[in-house]
Amino acid sequence: MPKGIPTLKLRAWMARRNRSDVLSERVRRTLVKTLYTQPASLAIGAFNGIASTAIAAWLSGSTWLYLGCILLSVVAVARVTAALGLSPDEMDNSTRKLELVYEVGAFSYAFLLGAIAAITIVSDVGSAIEVLMIANATCYAVGICARNAGTPSIAMGQLLLVCFPIMASALWIGTLPFIALFVTMLLLIPAMMSITFNVFKVLRDSIGAAETSAKLAEKMQHLARTDVVTGLANRAGLNHAMTETLMATEEGSELALIWVDLDRFKEVNDLLGHPVGDRVLSEVARRLRDVSPDGATIARFGGDEFIVFTPIAGRKDSERIASEIHAEIMRPVRIDGDRLEVRASLGVALLPDDGTDADQLMQHADLALYHAKMGGRSQTRFFDQSMTRNLLRRREIEEELRLAIQRNELSIYFQPILDLQNGRIRSFEALVRWFHPEKGELRPDEFIPVAEETGVIVTLGNWITAQAARVCANWPEDVTVAVNLSPLQIKAPGAALGILNALREAGLPPSRLELEVTESLFVEDNHNTAAFIEELSAAGVRFALDDFGTGYSSLGYINSFPFSKIKVDRSFVSGPNVGRKSDAIIRAVAEMGSTLEMEIVAEGLETVEQVQAVRDAGCTLGQGYYFSRAVPDYQAAMLLAQERGDGGAANRKIA
Ligand code: C2E
Ligand code: CA
Ligand code: CA
Repeated sequence: MPKGIPTLKLRAWMARRNRSDVLSERVRRTLVKTLYTQPASLAIGAFNGIASTAIAAWLSGSTWLYLGCILLSVVAVARVTAALGLSPDEMDNSTRKLELVYEVGAFSYAFLLGAIAAITIVSDVGSAIEVLMIANATCYAVGICARNAGTPSIAMGQLLLVCFPIMASALWIGTLPFIALFVTMLLLIPAMMSITFNVFKVLRDSIGAAETSAKLAEKMQHLARTDVVTGLANRAGLNHAMTETLMATEEGSELALIWVDLDRFKEVNDLLGHPVGDRVLSEVARRLRDVSPDGATIARFGGDEFIVFTPIAGRKDSERIASEIHAEIMRPVRIDGDRLEVRASLGVALLPDDGTDADQLMQHADLALYHAKMGGRSQTRFFDQSMTRNLLRRREIEEELRLAIQRNELSIYFQPILDLQNGRIRSFEALVRWFHPEKGELRPDEFIPVAEETGVIVTLGNWITAQAARVCANWPEDVTVAVNLSPLQIKAPGAALGILNALREAGLPPSRLELEVTESLFVEDNHNTAAFIEELSAAGVRFALDDFGTGYSSLGYINSFPFSKIKVDRSFVSGPNVGRKSDAIIRAVAEMGSTLEMEIVAEGLETVEQVQAVRDAGCTLGQGYYFSRAVPDYQAAMLLAQERGDGGAANRKIA
């Protein structure tokens, strides 16, 4: 027979035994602790024994009974003192010591009670006293078995120590009643043993079961606090860890909350699929673990956001940690041999400088992160108080924007878009303006994002479309109006219908409205967008792709949606990066436009040179300060009248 098998079996058996030992040791500890619970019952027992013995001694005048009474009192006092003297630490750790202390006291006390009853039997003290002391001893023996069933050895020891002296003295006397007493007690012992062991089993099993379910609950709790994709803490885990850390922080210690947000992570998911996205997240998590200091809590907080909550040694230290985290994340990620550039923005808030509780720290780190993103992404920003002021301004704007429409503070301005060949105005772009009674003129860049974030953009957008359509209805039939559309407006239920209604009310044919949309629209939600564009296109409304060249510049969108115009972003015309490269890009886009029969608009034309350059590059339409700024509706009408008054002559500005 191969030698390995019995060895294996033996090991398995030992492992099983060890496991059950571990359990029973813990259960035993719990059970031993029950010895010390309800000290009142101990005290009552001791008082009973001492009082009864004192009465018996006094009535009988027996020296032995007096001695017994004194010994009982000594043992009782010693037990109470020992129990009170145990520290909570000992209660938790030294099971054996607890047991021993209890055992010595309990056994001496039990034996004394039994011996005192035996003395009354063998000496001549009268049957009433005998009954009192025998009853006292046996009641104690039965009661203590029930009380101490958690540790059967002690219970049994006490039972036997009470019973034996009584039984021996009964046998010694040997009369029929005492023989009967002997037999009764002889039967009492196995009966009490069986009851005690049964109670013990029930106790042990229920404590064991409670242990198992407590462990299970602990495991579930751990799972509930862990992010499945990265193994980091999740939102719940972070909250828990933050609370624990904050409760444990001492006066003067410093902490940093670093909020990491991956830039444009949605693109990774959309272009490469979620499995790749998940691997990127896991890799980022691994790097965060590597680079974060010991004792830091690292959590994934929603889709592509992470939080590192860490103890620091001052602001300088937090700056070092943040820059290490940033550098680590910016290292390209390799997935299946492909190189992926991951970028991240970081917002940092410090305790105690920037906040003293978790909520405040989170708010301020979030605000710092917001500024990092606004400042052009891939940056780290530390919170400072001016950020709160900006936030307050945004909040103010948010509140006032709701009222601005009713108060007539908003108006639409119109900027002409000209044919670059003959200089005629082909359409106007509607641009909203807010004339605030106190703050003066607010730029759309300042309040449109607030309107988008708060959802006010839906009401605002409908109002703008309606106004623009009404104004356009007064222009010559060949002049159209272009209205900017936010992605959020399209998502609102009944968006297409709202626009068609506005057109009907203004009496403007749908073909004279052009909606300018940006590429961000397509990244977010394809189904709604496609349905919206299809419905309006079918009615005759036209679409222009705005700010082309700033986003993903995917040719896919141009192919799958019926755009009649592409507006090349003004950064290609008048930005700091204008040069041969941008010129080549404009040329390529213009060429594509002429092939696909789309018009190409050059935005932001400020000088005659720029006009010439974009016309040479093949753009068909132009817009910019060189021709005109956005003007109120009556001035737009004047521009048209002037032009038409010239008998349709080319705008003098077109060379
Ligand atoms: P956009 O759609 O790209 O609009 C063109 C912006 O360029 C306008 O700024 C316009 O005044 C400005 N612009 C025109 N010509 C020139 C030029 O030669 N040089 C320079 N530097 N700028 C020029 P505005 O009116 O401040 O609008 C900014 C942005 O706010 C718009 O960019 C658009 O995205 C948004 N916006 C404006 N009005 C509305 C609106 O009614 N609804 C929505 N959803 N967004 C709007
Ligand atoms: Ca536009
Ligand atoms: Ca634009």
